[in-house]
Amino acid sequence: MKDLSINPFESAMKQLEKAAAVLELGIKNKEVRTTLRQKLEILRHPQRILNVSIPVVMDNGSIRIFHGYRVQHNNARGPYKGGIRYHHNVSMDEVKALAFWMAMKCAVADLPLGGGKGGIIVDPKTLSEKELERLSRGYVIAIEDCIGPDKDVPAPDVNTTGQIMGWMVDEYIGMKNKELGITNKKEREKLKSTFTGKLIKDGGSEGREEATGKGGLFVLLATLAKLNKQSTISNKQFTVAVQGFGNVGYNVAKFLDEAGFKVVAVSDSKGGIYVKEGLNPVKTLECKKKTGQLIGCYCSAKGCDGKNGKPITNDELLELPVDIIVPSALENVLTGANAAKIKAKVVLEMANGPTTPQADAIFFKKGIIVIPDILANSGGVTVSCFEWEQNLKGEHWTKDDVNAKLKKKMYTATDAIWNASKTYKTDLRTSAFVVALKRILLAFK
Ligand code: NAD
Repeated sequence: MKDLSINPFESAMKQLEKAAAVLELGIKNKEVRTTLRQKLEILRHPQRILNVSIPVVMDNGSIRIFHGYRVQHNNARGPYKGGIRYHHNVSMDEVKALAFWMAMKCAVADLPLGGGKGGIIVDPKTLSEKELERLSRGYVIAIEDCIGPDKDVPAPDVNTTGQIMGWMVDEYIGMKNKELGITNKKEREKLKSTFTGKLIKDGGSEGREEATGKGGLFVLLATLAKLNKQSTISNKQFTVAVQGFGNVGYNVAKFLDEAGFKVVAVSDSKGGIYVKEGLNPVKTLECKKKTGQLIGCYCSAKGCDGKNGKPITNDELLELPVDIIVPSALENVLTGANAAKIKAKVVLEMANGPTTPQADAIFFKKGIIVIPDILANSGGVTVSCFEWEQNLKGEHWTKDDVNAKLKKKMYTATDAIWNASKTYKTDLRTSAFVVALKRILLAFK
């Protein structure tokens, strides 16, 4: 289970501190070191925090006030970029951590973007579709002043979808139109770049929906090739357990299965399933949609059968004797409390912030390789960046084009992080931070 007692922003700052210490080590000159410290201090604080209340007319005519945030961490490398999360546990510190990680992630993927994030405290499952639409439009009204193609470009995150981005961009363009009277079609098209992760019909990019999962596969393959070369891990059919079965979890499971990995477990917020012979993610999702629940969907390539598998808890899933675990749900699931029980050799962090600094230290001692979130799940923002670029230029790239560009970006980023880990003799997370920090500091005015 996600540990709510751990403050994700404090964890993020510990990660920053560790990377800063590595960066400092290489600097002999005291003055240069002091300047570096001062610049890094800037990165400990978001540039802007918006705290909004959103009045929503509910279906029964009553008005309910929802609370939300938009955190703009840093824009040294380009407009703030980051998703919007709908969840009952959203907190200011969670959004601050996610915004900070976005700044680092965009730098790791070498995108001309900074970091931001948004969130609304809501369990969207308790709202009707119309209420969800009014809430999403209300959030845009609340943050309108601070977003735009050159300012801040939101996207989907947990519980937000292409459809929600569609409502948001429609609201935003409508407001701008009223304000500025934009009649020029080209200008209107450009405004679509204010949000990414849109459906194709609303100006979305080919390949965005599955980009985070696909990017994760590329990063994993690139890393395994390096580990294989230094014989840290053998090249065989790896077994995998994926926590989370939403956009990211489903897609990464599907691509891993297609690439020949044996995915033996997946889960959602209600619990997980274990299928020893390897499950088929596509059939499993079809079954979940049909039956309304994941538990019971023991679907292998041959089909779905109750005898194929068994239910497991989210905690059990992470502790399975598999080669690779792929946390793809929420933060703080790998902690000091369970890290010693983890049997996998590789952790592919598709969720943001799934591993606490305490767990990181235990994994390092145990020789478990953690492929950090700011690299592993950077495929999503990479294709979001492509979508932004396409909207700005009035272009629409083919899926093959998008995937080829994504693959190149992911392999290049993995190379940079791997090489830095050798240069600085450190784990992959710290080296990813070092690479990101160097790039961000270079962009400071
Ligand atoms: P989503 O809403 O599509 O799916 C979330 C999944 O997590 C669902 O299957 C849900 O049931 C499950 N879940 C929720 N609470 C859980 C719990 N306590 N235990 C186990 N499972 C739980 O969200 P998503 O877009 O797939 O995002 C998942 C993670 O990936 C988040 O950390 C997000 O920040 C990160 N991420 C998303 C993207 C993206 O493009 N969507 C990009 C980068 C990173």
